[in-house]
Amino acid sequence: MTVPEGDTVFALARRLGTVLTGATLTRTDFRVPRWALTDLSGGRVTAVRSVGKHLFIDVERPSGTPVSIHSHLKMEGTWDVYRTGTAWRRPGHAARVVLHAGDTEAVGFDLGTLEVLDDPSTAVAHLGPDLLGDDWDPAAAVSNLAAHPDVPIGVALLDQRLLAGVGNIYRSEVCFLRRISPTTRTGDVDLPAVVDTCRTLLWANRARPVRCTTGVMVKGKELWVYGRDRRPCRRCGTAIVRSDLDSRATYTCPTCQP
Ligand SMILES: [Zn+2]
Repeated sequence: MTVPEGDTVFALARRLGTVLTGATLTRTDFRVPRWALTDLSGGRVTAVRSVGKHLFIDVERPSGTPVSIHSHLKMEGTWDVYRTGTAWRRPGHAARVVLHAGDTEAVGFDLGTLEVLDDPSTAVAHLGPDLLGDDWDPAAAVSNLAAHPDVPIGVALLDQRLLAGVGNIYRSEVCFLRRISPTTRTGDVDLPAVVDTCRTLLWANRARPVRCTTGVMVKGKELWVYGRDRRPCRRCGTAIVRSDLDSRATYTCPTCQP
């Protein structure tokens, strides 16, 4: 299973945006209790965008007031687009929301968060600079990380309050590329270089169907270390080690990442 990272959500926003932006919602069906009575039919989708791992579908109600459908994929979530009447790829009970626009329907499945917000900025006010945002600010990301010198870099990189977009796969890949152990104190790391690597990887992958950090787009060769427990390091041949950091799997080469 591929855990959604910032680039996943960015690509998803693009895909959904192609279909929904400018469309008028003919019917909306929110299947979570809190929003079950919400009806955005007649609203026009003005934008679909990502901020870190958060997805926003901005809608202008018929009255002209803006509202935004905020979702977070967490571990299992996704959005799919279908022509009305075709079979869904996931079971109906997994659908949290269905947005109808003419003969198209966008279905949000297994979403970790789903809410309808008058002011969407409140949902992401806690986030650090977005690695894929128009307003990406590397200096702010570096200073946010630097403010936590004693936290292991592998933990700090996942803290979306410091910078937004890095998930479990990228933290392993970034640490390998920078030749540092994820347990290294953040204060002992070349932070501008780490932040730059995060941005480079996410940007390169924002529109790719398969995540790739090695530059080799061949099945099974796309990643340096993630998911490669006990397999030989692509650089030095040492067996890759899997361990838990902050209760999530991390993969390292003990030789390349002392
Ligand atoms: Zn190695």
